Amino acid sequence: MTESPARPRSASEIAAQAHRRRTFAVISHPDAGKSTLTEALALHAEVIDSAGAVHGKAGRKGVTSDWMEMERARGISITSAVLQFSYRDHVINLLDTPGHGDFSEDTYRVLAAVDAAVMLLDASKGLEAQTLKLFDVCRSRKIPVLTFVNKWDVPGREALELLDEVEQTIGLRPMPVTWPVGIAGDLRGVVECATGEMRRYTRTAGGATKGEVEVLDPDRAAAEEPLYLETVVDELELLREIGAEFDEDDYLAGTATPVLFGAARHGVGVGRLLDALVDLAPAPAPRPDADGTPRQLDTPLSGLVFKVQAGMDRSHRDRTAFLRINSGRFERGMVLTHAGSGKPFATKYAQAVFGQQRTTLEEAFPGDIVGLVNAGALRPGDTLYAEDPVEFPAIPSFAPEFFAVVRAKDAGRYKQFRRGISQLDSEGVIQVLRSDRRGDQAPVLAAVGPLQFEVVTARLADEFSAPVTLEQLNYNVARLTDEAGAEILNKESDTEVLHRSVDGALLAVFVNKWRMETIRRKHSDVMMEPLLAGA
Ligand code: GDP
Repeated sequence: MTESPARPRSASEIAAQAHRRRTFAVISHPDAGKSTLTEALALHAEVIDSAGAVHGKAGRKGVTSDWMEMERARGISITSAVLQFSYRDHVINLLDTPGHGDFSEDTYRVLAAVDAAVMLLDASKGLEAQTLKLFDVCRSRKIPVLTFVNKWDVPGREALELLDEVEQTIGLRPMPVTWPVGIAGDLRGVVECATGEMRRYTRTAGGATKGEVEVLDPDRAAAEEPLYLETVVDELELLREIGAEFDEDDYLAGTATPVLFGAARHGVGVGRLLDALVDLAPAPAPRPDADGTPRQLDTPLSGLVFKVQAGMDRSHRDRTAFLRINSGRFERGMVLTHAGSGKPFATKYAQAVFGQQRTTLEEAFPGDIVGLVNAGALRPGDTLYAEDPVEFPAIPSFAPEFFAVVRAKDAGRYKQFRRGISQLDSEGVIQVLRSDRRGDQAPVLAAVGPLQFEVVTARLADEFSAPVTLEQLNYNVARLTDEAGAEILNKESDTEVLHRSVDGALLAVFVNKWRMETIRRKHSDVMMEPLLAGA
């Protein structure tokens, strides 16, 4: 017997399903503990039974395809995994972001697909460079931010000092939800700021196993935990005096951040973070289309492609597009329309992607991420919809700061080379620029960070059997211009105008800001607009 065809769902069911979703990403500086926290969250929600099943990092188990060897060797995460688990009758979608700044364009795209973010801080380091950059993206996209102060089990900084840093540096009012009992390095547990109730943790040795929790009411905490009486009571009082009280509206408006403390490696505070996500983080809401009109959740299916990835399964040479559902109910087998081209897109091979593992996915709701296999025609920023046409705003490209000419080492492999470049371009791995002057054999690659070149070089050799040489160019500033501008700017020395393949934009590139400014003064009527600030 075949399964029954699409069961139409009521608007209220779609709304109820959307209401259960929490779709978020963790923003942090490398080494703050993002992978550890991701695993701990998944462990806590009891979807996996051992740490390491999520990421393929060195020393942990996990499946990686060959070109991911590079990220393993470097201990960085280039590919983003999407994790889905259920917790307290909610569905949590955790979108992983690459930690390294050179891949911040990928991170930006991921942040286009979330409703909330967790800002993860290392207790001994506080706000670090990469976190600040990613926070700026959250602010510009109006993504509400929860803060998790990690590694409280090892000596670090004072809690109040960290809060002060958050307020002073990024102007976000910290609102502690929990407070550590014990100084950094001697963590006894965390206390609920609102009630004074303490969660005491019994640490489990070694890896990311679930911390044992014992809940103590304030009297018992005071009686049994000397540090509770000596410091926490006063500190909570102080917090009240300095106006750190909780206000959900301020959190949602992006002017304040709830703060939680813990130690991901020992599972401490991780369950509390999940609770905060469920209780505080916003569920998917209607998303504005390119004209600013919100796409209501219960309208027919629509979604945004925020990531395209190839080579996840080498035996199939697959290419997966990750679609964030913005409205409606997704059902495998639906035929969607690609907003850019108007072409149909069949979804027979929709998958749920869990780390490196895939399972066939039958249905999905707003906030969920669907992996679409064989997605040759899709690129980041594309909209897919059913029935009722819509197009979501494009995801802007970053301003590249590194440029290199790429050539096939072996002229006989030009066909493979061309195919590879076009594939990497449409995945959004790198920006590909061309000009008549340089010709098709020698396109210019433009990157936000130089590691992107390494990825391209490795993948061209590995997946496309097209080893390449790179010749770095001396440019490091790009501006948008138009045809008239191109004609003028191309006559200037140390400057050229290139065509970006992905969107047809004309990019004028300059050796440095100083030279760019000189040219701008000389041709004040020429269009020279900044691109979105990059890494
Ligand atoms: P990522 O680069 O942000 O993904 O960081 P990882 O999750 O790989 O963690 C970086 C290092 O910090 C690893 O050695 C972790 O074991 C360690 N780490 C993560 N969380 C904690 C924690 O709560 N306490 C301590 N002491 N170390 C942690």
